[in-house]
Amino acid sequence: MDGMMLLRRARDAGLAVKAQGDKLVIRGPKEAEPVALLLIEHKPAVIAALAPDATWWRRQLAVRTLVWLVAGRTRDEAEALAFEDLAVEWHRRNGEKVEQGRCAGCGDLIGGREALPLGDGNLVHFDSRGFDCLLGFGARWRATAADALVGLGLKPPPSPGRAAGCIATTNLGVAAVRGRRDVA
Ligand SMILES: [Zn+2]
Repeated sequence: MDGMMLLRRARDAGLAVKAQGDKLVIRGPKEAEPVALLLIEHKPAVIAALAPDATWWRRQLAVRTLVWLVAGRTRDEAEALAFEDLAVEWHRRNGEKVEQGRCAGCGDLIGGREALPLGDGNLVHFDSRGFDCLLGFGARWRATAADALVGLGLKPPPSPGRAAGCIATTNLGVAAVRGRRDVA
């Protein structure tokens, strides 16, 4: 469940919520106990939404959505692209770094096979045996980053199916313009 939404419900119920390390400190009226229990049930999402940088990520989503709107995208596209921008950013900062010499897709040693270096410092197998490692890693880091962003209170894109196609094209375009590989 969305951490920000839970925090809003808590505030409406008169609860004061703080994070202390990995603990939640909740104070408020007795009748708000069901909401407090809900917060505890979804503790990781609530703690993420309380993180000091959660505000920065939420503001960035608004700013980047506006940039894409100004660039002539529809609202749905702009929101999806902004979210994807931030998923790439989150992955760059916090994403999985696979041990040197190992494939980020399948986890096996690169061995004597051809490998593709990615913009995040990871390597994936990339040869005549196919693109499964590249695609698998791409899907994995995107899902992890999207979960983390939702945990920080960001609204996921409105239409993931349509957005995914538009994202894939645009991101590859962005990567090409910047002259580097940003995405798997
Ligand atoms: Zn592999």
